[in-house]
Amino acid sequence: MLEEQATNPMNMKTMAPTDSNESGVSPATDHGPRITDNLLRLHNVEKSHKTKAGFTYVLRQINLNIAEGDFITFMGPSGAGKSTLLSIIGMFDGVFEGEYFFNEQAIHKLKPKERAALNKRHIGFVFQQFHLLDDMTVAENLDLPLSYRDLKKSERESLVADTLDRFGIVAKKDLFPSQLSGGQQQLVAIARAIIAKPALILADEPTGNLHTDQGREIMDLFKKLNDSGTTIIQVTHNPDWARYGRRIVTLKDGWMEK
Ligand code: ADP
Repeated sequence: MLEEQATNPMNMKTMAPTDSNESGVSPATDHGPRITDNLLRLHNVEKSHKTKAGFTYVLRQINLNIAEGDFITFMGPSGAGKSTLLSIIGMFDGVFEGEYFFNEQAIHKLKPKERAALNKRHIGFVFQQFHLLDDMTVAENLDLPLSYRDLKKSERESLVADTLDRFGIVAKKDLFPSQLSGGQQQLVAIARAIIAKPALILADEPTGNLHTDQGREIMDLFKKLNDSGTTIIQVTHNPDWARYGRRIVTLKDGWMEK
């Protein structure tokens, strides 16, 4: 299926983000409280794991300011701490030392439930292992982020239909993730991350399972979303994809390289 679409791999007729009025979802910056210039701030963030040998540090003294509208690439060797950092920024991991402010809100002081609510409201995450819900169809997986927004059922249905079309996966809408190839699951995961127009998109090697042409289309989509104000942080080993970002942050052994 994917191979057949080599020239226009995802059949992406309208890969540009849809206009807010057409889609029924407001632009990222209109969601909830106004996003400040400094979208997020990490101050001396550290993460360690308890092992038999004692504490092993995975992140050391991470100080990072990310402005609204930025597009950052995390690079560095395997085991450097990139996924760990992404999962702290994505508010999935709340066990760390130091301070994390998102939209000037102190995330390090939040209870897990409060963190999860903020995550659902503002963040779209593309996981390396997709993390699609196995007992939900493709269409239901796409609808999930919309269910946390204040949208009518008809608006949600039309956004799901529109997104299925944009990603060339209309024919897959009633299938379950286990019935899809790795590349198709990755497309669904990306579609799910962007469908509700989050203020922040976090993507952990989002194109790892895609053909180069498809990877480029996804990166072009990220660039368009970023041009229209969405803040993006990606992890990639691919120097071509890294160049789509505005700056590169390199991690090594848990430290940010200067
Ligand atoms: P990257 O994404 O850069 O490849 P990760 O953030 O996945 O790196 O992992 C950073 C380091 O944290 C690795 O050395 C990994 O083995 C270690 N690590 C991750 N989870 C645990 C854990 N639960 N216990 C001990 N070490 C862990």
